[in-house]
Amino acid sequence: MQWLKHPRLSASAKDIKSLGARGLKGISAANSNTKISISRLSSPNAAPNAPLRTFENLGLNSERLRIAMVERLHAQGISDERVLSAMQRVPRHAFVDEALASRAYDDAALPIGHGQTISQPWVVARMIAAVCELGLPARVLEVGTGCGYQAAVMSYVFPQVYSIERIRALYDMAKEHLRVLQLTKVRLSYGDGMVGLASSAPFDAIIVAAAGLKIPQALVTQLSIGGVLIAPEGASAQKLIRIQRNSETSWSRQELEEVRFVPLKSGLQP
Ligand code: SAH
Repeated sequence: MQWLKHPRLSASAKDIKSLGARGLKGISAANSNTKISISRLSSPNAAPNAPLRTFENLGLNSERLRIAMVERLHAQGISDERVLSAMQRVPRHAFVDEALASRAYDDAALPIGHGQTISQPWVVARMIAAVCELGLPARVLEVGTGCGYQAAVMSYVFPQVYSIERIRALYDMAKEHLRVLQLTKVRLSYGDGMVGLASSAPFDAIIVAAAGLKIPQALVTQLSIGGVLIAPEGASAQKLIRIQRNSETSWSRQELEEVRFVPLKSGLQP
């Protein structure tokens, strides 16, 4: 599937501008999964989720807004066609509360309840693209399922997707979202992703959607040789870190963009 094929595409430059016109108000370390320089969070209020969306009732055409979002991601440096195509296919509005649906295609993290956020589209695209640079990983683990949006995008890119979430209510919510969209090939687990998912390791890639002070050792040891991990690291100042496993005993590490993610926490929240 091509990502830039829409009859109204030429009219979308203005739409893109207005989509990105919100301010920086409301950003904090606790409530966003965003890139520092371009992040926008419009509402600090956590909201519960609902399974069914009638987006067209809001007078919005989600396909058109998704195309505008993908165009914007391309302009922001995401060039991997597999990622852009997947971002165009997943209805992000189906993963947020109906009250926030009209903002689902803004360049922003949005609250999903339980003090957590759905990651900013750029962050989702960047992290997936960052593990695809040396070839397409087959078996991929996401730590921090949240509402299931990133896992859904990943399911269009990778042959096998695993995702783990420590908050029971979010795990249930993600399961329902993926069921409604018939993306049941994603294997969800309720557990502490800081210890990884040993029963399904090794992974060719691991994407971590929450920031720890240090990247957990258990995760890097669950990479296959040649496997790549991407994770935010740090407290208030965070960076995306990419780690590649070179051999049984050696890993290389690279720092990428400055970001702001919700914290990686140990243990379960029933
Ligand atoms: N991937 C999500 C982002 C969710 S926000 C998206 O598609 O938008 C980050 C998520 O990481 C939260 O749901 C949080 O509960 C979860 N999390 C934090 N620490 C975790 C851990 N140790 N194991 C599993 N999930 C964790």
